[in-house]
Amino acid sequence: MYTLIRSEVLWLLLALLPWPPRFCGPAGEQAPPDPYTAAREQMVAEQIASRDIKDPRVLAAMRQVPRHLFVPADERASAYEDRPLPIGYGQTISQPYIVALMTELAKPKPTDRALEIGTGSGYQAAILSKLVAEVHSIEIVEPLADEARTRLATLGFANVVCRTGDGYNGWLEKAPFDLILVTAAPDHVPPALVAQLRPGGRLVIPVGPVFSVQELLVIEKDASGRTRTEQITPVRFVPLRRKD
Ligand code: SAH
Repeated sequence: MYTLIRSEVLWLLLALLPWPPRFCGPAGEQAPPDPYTAAREQMVAEQIASRDIKDPRVLAAMRQVPRHLFVPADERASAYEDRPLPIGYGQTISQPYIVALMTELAKPKPTDRALEIGTGSGYQAAILSKLVAEVHSIEIVEPLADEARTRLATLGFANVVCRTGDGYNGWLEKAPFDLILVTAAPDHVPPALVAQLRPGGRLVIPVGPVFSVQELLVIEKDASGRTRTEQITPVRFVPLRRKD
């Protein structure tokens, strides 16, 4: 009799166990597999590593950040193609290679504080977020700034702060910065951005005529505050607008 009860209790306990057995905690907590992992690997291999981007941290960031979640839903299938894509309001998310090139030219270090002008989709800010301590980003189109802020927070890029406004004057309260990336093109170098660069810091910026070809420049500030400018390559960016 006693044995019979014991076996009934055993069966009851077995019936209460979850099936199929969960060995790693509740199934709902596991992140779904990312269907774009292979596309991202291919993007890095064919468009970036093959074009001489060598910094392993930059390559790793480009492999990790889900670019397809930074483009409008109807552009998602094209997210890993070798070109810029429209993100609304007449603006674009840059070609993956240009994002990688500008990031590598900025020589990001884990302790750096970065400033980006032109948040757009938030993709460049997300790449920087993996490589530096803090990212500050300014976007002039309010709905784009709001969308990017929400997107970056939802995806867990917690070290990015976004602000709506004209980035021509930089972000004085948060200066100086170890690196500044400008992802819209002015026709001259904004003096405030050079001023807000820390000695030893780098400003990566496309400069040239509106809606034409600009030159990508790296402006480096040495320990004594002197700057040296290097021309990298011709590029084509949307214009840096001014608040009127
Ligand atoms: N870095 C973005 C792409 C930039 S597109 C990304 O990763 O998606 C350039 C962006 O610069 C646009 O969103 C445009 O609205 C913004 N912009 C243009 N002029 C600006 C200015 N004066 N200050 C801040 N943002 C500006």
